[in-house]
Amino acid sequence: MSRNCQANTLLLLILAFLASIAAAAPASMPSAEEKLNQDKVQGEKTSDLLSDAHPMPVNDRILSLLKQSKTDAEQARQVLNKIEAISDNFNRAERYLMHIINALLIPEGSDRAQRVIDELNRAMALEDKIAKTQLFTPEFSQVHLLLAEQYAAMQDYEKAYKQKELYLKKYYDYRKQIREARLAKLNEKYETDLKLKENELLKSQHELKALQIKEAEKKKFAQHRNMYILLITVIIFLLILIRQFRVRSILRSLSKTDSLTGLYNRRTLFAQGDALIDKACDDNTAISVIMLDIDHFKQINDNFGHDVGDKVITNVALLGKEVIRTRDVFARLGGEEFAVILPNTQLDEAKAIAEHFREKVEQNPLSELTQTVTISAGVACNQATKAEFDDLLHAADQAMYQAKNSGRNQVCCYQGQQS
Ligand code: GH3
Ligand code: MG
Ligand code: MG
Repeated sequence: MSRNCQANTLLLLILAFLASIAAAAPASMPSAEEKLNQDKVQGEKTSDLLSDAHPMPVNDRILSLLKQSKTDAEQARQVLNKIEAISDNFNRAERYLMHIINALLIPEGSDRAQRVIDELNRAMALEDKIAKTQLFTPEFSQVHLLLAEQYAAMQDYEKAYKQKELYLKKYYDYRKQIREARLAKLNEKYETDLKLKENELLKSQHELKALQIKEAEKKKFAQHRNMYILLITVIIFLLILIRQFRVRSILRSLSKTDSLTGLYNRRTLFAQGDALIDKACDDNTAISVIMLDIDHFKQINDNFGHDVGDKVITNVALLGKEVIRTRDVFARLGGEEFAVILPNTQLDEAKAIAEHFREKVEQNPLSELTQTVTISAGVACNQATKAEFDDLLHAADQAMYQAKNSGRNQVCCYQGQQS
């Protein structure tokens, strides 16, 4: 008995163990098809969640079948059969429309209205996971219109009215949605256009600024160029003016001087002499004149040539410049004749200067010459008499001839004046 009891206990334990293994193991391994369906449901859930924000895509064939089912039921039924073969891949929105198509294609019969209602209710059972915006579209919202028709056919006017009301509400919502979408699109377009126009305006302004800058630079360049041209013109004008002044002064000085010696010429001598003698008369001061002539100059020319003769004239002029004071006027009268006006100078003083001059010439012969060069001089002085310069010069000339006649190389004073 106890042995039987032990055997029963062991059997019970084995059975319990087997039962626990069976409980731990899955009831059964899912088939590939079930797995696919599970995945699909899972996927659908995910896409449904997404569908709240975005309407689901609907196959074009379903949409055209929806239209066809209203116009050509026979043909639509054939297409429906083909489409249903791939119905596994339909999303919720497509299944919704397929229910509507099914409802539309239910053949005439006594129970047609109820069958249509059932089919449409199946469609509406999917609504909670379809985007509201999509349900408002006429393809989806026609569910209520169809239901209303069926209820009306069944003389359930209250339900028919409710469905019609629902349909209209959705229709208005749909219109509103379209209007808002259009408005948003218009606004977007308007804003885009506005932005484009603003960009164009900015671009134009930028181009205008660039043009203005270019124009200003051009103006500045032109101003600088004009300034430089003006400056150069002024400089050239000034240079011409300076040159003109220099030429004029050279011409003036040339007209006043002797080209060989650089001394005053005859014309200047007379002009200065007239002025100085007037001044001497006015101031009641003495004024003297010395006339000079190189002795036997013709011989020098004949013996040594005209060029050497010129050098002798120049040398006498140079020696005279060393002797003559700065206030005196030293001039070449012509040929080998010279004259000196000595303002504020008495006869004796003038004579001494003439003597000094004569000695200097005598002591400084030119190296080209083998003979001494000498000069004869005549001195005249005017004091407190209203004489003309011409007269004074003539007096000095007479005194000079006296020196020539007396043997040359000497200084004589005008007759009646000290010699
Ligand atoms: P006198 O002692 O009397 O003055 O005799 P002279 O020979 O000096 O005088 P004359 O008037 O007879 O000669 C002057 C000469 O000077 C005549 C002329 O040919 C010469 N003569 C005049 N002007 C120039 C000149 O510029 N250069 C040279 N080399 N000779 C000149
Ligand atoms: Mg002479
Ligand atoms: Mg002479």
